[in-house]
Amino acid sequence: MALYVQKYGGTSVGSVERIRGVADKVKGFRDNGHDVVVVVSAMSGETNRLIGLASEMQDQPDPREMDVLVSTGEQVTIALLCMALKERGCDARSYTGGQVKIRTDSSHMKARIQDIDVENMRADLTRGRVVVVAGFQGVDEQGNITTLGRGGSDTTGVALAAALSADECQIYTDVDGVYTTDPRVVEGARRLDVITFEEMLEMASLGSKVLQIRAVEFAGKYKVPLRVLHSFQDGPGTLINIESDNKMEQPVISGIAFNRDEAKLTITGVPDIPGVASKILSPISAANIEVDMILQNIGAGGLTDFTFTVHRNDFSKAQTVLEKVAKELGANGTEGADNIAKVSIVGVGMRSHAGVASTMFDCLAEENINIQMISTSEIKVSVVIAEKYLELAVRALHSAFDLDQQAVEESM
Ligand code: ADP
Ligand code: ASP
Ligand code: MG
Repeated sequence: MALYVQKYGGTSVGSVERIRGVADKVKGFRDNGHDVVVVVSAMSGETNRLIGLASEMQDQPDPREMDVLVSTGEQVTIALLCMALKERGCDARSYTGGQVKIRTDSSHMKARIQDIDVENMRADLTRGRVVVVAGFQGVDEQGNITTLGRGGSDTTGVALAAALSADECQIYTDVDGVYTTDPRVVEGARRLDVITFEEMLEMASLGSKVLQIRAVEFAGKYKVPLRVLHSFQDGPGTLINIESDNKMEQPVISGIAFNRDEAKLTITGVPDIPGVASKILSPISAANIEVDMILQNIGAGGLTDFTFTVHRNDFSKAQTVLEKVAKELGANGTEGADNIAKVSIVGVGMRSHAGVASTMFDCLAEENINIQMISTSEIKVSVVIAEKYLELAVRALHSAFDLDQQAVEESM
């Protein structure tokens, strides 16, 4: 008999009816003799509602108080799920992150898990109980409640699976696996039976929110067998293959990820002398703003234009910092745009195939989509384009790389 850690996301516990559905599902596993540890998210929309309340109260709320607030959503669902399980004659016990203990560092709203105490959970499992743990939260050394960043319940699931040496970590959600791209954007997107760990890591970091990136990192580090499945439909889901088999023929492109959360800033007419990049980016990083893509161009008269992207939430903060830097450097000025998006093609097969980037650029040119920035790595090519073309670009690239469901059926 196996030990499963099962994580159910917000929509899967979005109503009393759905929580009953999850309880039926968990009970099914118990009836088959398996041990189950369940991790749940808050009901869908709840975390956003709580964040909304905070922003009504204060412009920049104290991160510690934010964590006290947003962690409440998961406390509701663990209790309701335990009630539903007991109603079905299935013994269960709920735990908050602090009760487990899931110990984290003290970086509120983006805390990292350091250690998990498995004693209570093991004792409950031995007594035949289902253990239900609140996702997304932990506790730091001083006893402060912390949270793991948006989508963090995935990471709780994988971390518990690692700590308990579970047979599999199952991420149950509102789609039946990982697709070639977001199936809500491309109708012809195809479910993948297997995706390599490296590809999943890139997809998650480039915007596919089906799995939180930290969860994928954790799975890789601790070799946790990880599967994404539909909460209420049967099916094999998608296995994240941690032991990537390089001997297998890999498709050139496995998936397309995209991200609307980006904004672009440019400082124009900067003197082209050593140390300029550092003078521009050090104050940005000192303001705790993460930079993603960077582009530098020597323009007319040997002056440099320097462009970079940041998270859209940091856009206005970054603009203020950059305006100050521009004055100090005697630059011509600054520009900014937050109506951009990033589209990326991902695939380990890229390593052994030439011309992948040019296929991407040709495809976008055919659709008359202007590329504003480009960045590449061994297994991905990302471009920044105007946000209004995002869906068109994703659909066109999905076809250009033969990822459509139809294309695959025809080739068989
Ligand atoms: P949960 O609340 O269960 O954590 P999320 O909304 O965080 O669910 O993640 C599931 C969503 O991820 C899907 O509804 C889908 O729209 C989106 N998604 C984005 N990219 C992909 C992809 N490549 N494959 C599957 N789903 C994707
Ligand atoms: N409830 C949290 C969020 O909405 C964590 C999660 O759902 O994974 O981000
Ligand atoms: Mg999620």
